[in-house]
Amino acid sequence: MNLVLMGPPGAGKGTQGEILSKRLGIDTISTGVMLRTAIKEQTEVGKLAEGYINEGKLVPDDVIVKIVKERLAKPDCANGFILDGFPRTTAQAEALTKSGVRIDKVLSLEVDDEKIVERLSSRRECSKCGAPYNVISNKPAQEGKCDKCGGELIQRADDTPETIKNRLNVYHEQTEPIKAYYDKLGLLVTAKGEEKLEDTTANVAKALGLEV
Ligand code: AMP
Repeated sequence: MNLVLMGPPGAGKGTQGEILSKRLGIDTISTGVMLRTAIKEQTEVGKLAEGYINEGKLVPDDVIVKIVKERLAKPDCANGFILDGFPRTTAQAEALTKSGVRIDKVLSLEVDDEKIVERLSSRRECSKCGAPYNVISNKPAQEGKCDKCGGELIQRADDTPETIKNRLNVYHEQTEPIKAYYDKLGLLVTAKGEEKLEDTTANVAKALGLEV
């Protein structure tokens, strides 16, 4: 399955992506994780992306489209993939269609704005592998440590109240219109993001026609 996960920041795309990745045996490709790694390593792309990310703005389309195309051309993607955080603009969605990469489904995780701010303040991320956690709803086995690699869990630099507001505006203005684009293509399914992780996981499975 070639799947696109979309939804506002903090909807649970990263967490559901991980769960689906294990279940379906395919990799999650998160543009956010790729960009944060590039920033840590201070690559050309990282240096360019840092300012945009810290202000809650989108990185320019041409930069991100190039990175994703290169990643999707790698052999492991032939078995399927889960795109988390891409496409985020209509231009990116059109570029993906034009590139000839087949998309089977686009899952939109739906969460109200009021819930988002609350969720993002309790969100944490592994500083080493990027795995997502939440100190309320998705705790690691050992406090402050990643279950997968033992890395230190940190709060993201762009999970501040001001940046969160910008990111939500950007989502509604630039990303949400993609839903209509994929609906027209007959690919869009939706799932409600709930308080409890397992309820969201069940909604996602149902939306994708998987056994709950
Ligand atoms: P995320 O981890 O998906 O919330 O992404 C964090 C930040 O990375 C976003 O707020 C954007 O600044 C940038 N970013 C990630 N994916 C994209 C994309 N597809 N297009 C433009 N910017 C992106």
